[in-house]
Amino acid sequence: MTEADARAAVVQAVQRLDALGLNRGSTGNVSHRWDRDGQGGMLITPTGMGAELTVDDLVHVADDGTVSGRWQPSSEWQFHRAAYRARPDVQAVLHTHAVHATALACLDRPLPPFHYMVAVAGGNDVPLVPYSTFGSEALSDGVARALAQRDACLLAHHGLVTCGATMAQAMKVMVEVESLCQTYLLALPAGEPARLAADEMARVIEKFRHYGRRSRRDV
Ligand SMILES: [Zn+2]
Repeated sequence: MTEADARAAVVQAVQRLDALGLNRGSTGNVSHRWDRDGQGGMLITPTGMGAELTVDDLVHVADDGTVSGRWQPSSEWQFHRAAYRARPDVQAVLHTHAVHATALACLDRPLPPFHYMVAVAGGNDVPLVPYSTFGSEALSDGVARALAQRDACLLAHHGLVTCGATMAQAMKVMVEVESLCQTYLLALPAGEPARLAADEMARVIEKFRHYGRRSRRDV
């Protein structure tokens, strides 16, 4: 992948989040890991991003926090860095205030294993990171702890973060978790949905490891 490819992936993700209505106003942010001169780091959307963003608007933030680009990086760049540090396998991080995930996060509740698709985040729940002010070290530490175990986490009274080995994977988890939060919130007024057992969730997680992988059929 070239730097141009990584920049294009970020801009396309911003446009997709906007088209899907997942990015509310200019509150979301998107990054792709990009190592420049062996300093590590990422390409990230600038503060106050909108769908009109171009590849030249992205900002590079090195692992030591050195910023290069014409704009200020997203005010939430620290937890993107924390995610990349916690997960060497991750290439892309997405953050939105998607309405249903955020509504659940405002109830101070994680997403429990009420539906088998919760396993899309890599475990038997989507954990909740306790509230800390945006841009704070405490919030970054909480995100790092949660994403060490999962590909998604809710931020209490704030929103949703997802990550993936590719931008497409991080986007898939974002779309799915937001949809699951909507379903969960719809079910809640009729009573707390029953939870799938841990061994069933483990079975689904194992199936997901193989599901969707292209494999040739012997005919
Ligand atoms: Zn936010």
